[in-house]
Amino acid sequence: MAEVLYVKQGLIGPKLELHIAPEGLTLVQSDTGRTDYAPICDISQVTASKRGRVADLTVTFGALRPAWSLKSVPLASAQWAQSVIAEERNALAKREKPEYSQPVRGNRLHDMCAQIIASGNGNAAVDLVDFIVAQGVLHGASDVHFDPYSDAVVVRFRLDGVLYDVARLHPSIKRQLASRLKVVSKLATFRKSVAQEGRAALKIGDRTVDLRFSSLPTIHGEKVAVRIFDPAKSIFDVADLGMSADMLGSLQRLLMAPQGTVLLTGPSGSGKTTTLYAALSYLRENKRNLSSIATVEDPVEYDLQVVNQTQVNTASGLTFANALRTVLRQDPEVIMIGEIRDPETADIAIQAGLTGHLVLSTVHARSAAGVLLRLIDLGVEPYLLASSVSAVLSQRLVRTVCTKCTGAGCEQCANTGYSGRTGIFQLLPVSDALRECVLKRRSLVELEEQVRAEHVPSLLDDGQAKVRAGVTTQEELTRVLG
Ligand SMILES: [Zn+2]
Repeated sequence: MAEVLYVKQGLIGPKLELHIAPEGLTLVQSDTGRTDYAPICDISQVTASKRGRVADLTVTFGALRPAWSLKSVPLASAQWAQSVIAEERNALAKREKPEYSQPVRGNRLHDMCAQIIASGNGNAAVDLVDFIVAQGVLHGASDVHFDPYSDAVVVRFRLDGVLYDVARLHPSIKRQLASRLKVVSKLATFRKSVAQEGRAALKIGDRTVDLRFSSLPTIHGEKVAVRIFDPAKSIFDVADLGMSADMLGSLQRLLMAPQGTVLLTGPSGSGKTTTLYAALSYLRENKRNLSSIATVEDPVEYDLQVVNQTQVNTASGLTFANALRTVLRQDPEVIMIGEIRDPETADIAIQAGLTGHLVLSTVHARSAAGVLLRLIDLGVEPYLLASSVSAVLSQRLVRTVCTKCTGAGCEQCANTGYSGRTGIFQLLPVSDALRECVLKRRSLVELEEQVRAEHVPSLLDDGQAKVRAGVTTQEELTRVLG
């Protein structure tokens, strides 16, 4: 888990390290031949007494353990340690408050933000960021946005794929807020004109969530977005994706095949990653004698124990294609590739699907049939494509009707009538007739005609079945499918 490590050491005196773990700060006294740890929550007092250019730092704990007395610590280090420990202790104390364990609903959230700013103490931005991000997690948001405008900073939560304004902050807080967000995520605070990405961990109650920050300069200041990765939501099960029993059975058969390529398509935020992870989890649990599963992703969104996950890093030359080549040398049985978007990756992936590997990946296209043409555009030979790809799964996410109020609107669903989401799918097995179309380089219109001729249910068909079953609504289906 992410850990921040502060080390301050002067030329003389003992070495002192502060580890900020999700559980809170850990103080480490690491001197010649001796290392001693203490969690910050046990510290009762920390004092630095100045002696010329050095100081004695005394850390006292509860009654159970003796105090640490560090002699001749460089003055700057002692003062620094004292201030960091004090700040972290305040942060820990704050997280005991109810607003860190309960979601604050409706206008109260906006009002509490206004109160924090009005309280006017120097730490308003610190408190605001902690409060808002914690609330985002407690509301089950996937993202928290801080959008700067000339007259306000608008805070938005993305809930079930839809962005909602939850607070408008006074514009005077704009600069401090952006700096604090960057400090938390370890971004370079002095760099204001470039896009940046960073990470942090946040402990809420007894769980720890992973946060990914990105900042982007706009004409009204920096826009910061925080993505929330909650391990509580990282249990992936193909049975929970929202597929009909028939489709689920077909998918499971495709996954159990010894080789082939199964491709997913859908716009960003359509649940493709969740489906891929669910498929990998299924394989891990159900495929006998499975030697190994490897992934190449950008980014790695969840840590899937037992699966070898590789993060693409274009800046250091580890592209999808390079990473994939390396992974293939180790000959895993199953390979998941985050996305096929360049000719090299397309070529390697399709070849791998023909040579004893099961390949799972995503391709950007407007329809399941469009995926096949997209790969031809990327230079894949039609004859290889026709033999390698076993099926294409197209998907979207629709919000589901709140079961607590059955759509009428209640506190649980913030009066939207919706709570949670489910997938709608088209699973297109690549039939012999479709293979023939690919080999003859038929147009998209012709491919789609063939799909219809085979009576493969469309996304709309699947969506309408879910409307009839009362799982979602016609309005929601129209919103998503247009
Ligand atoms: Zn409701």
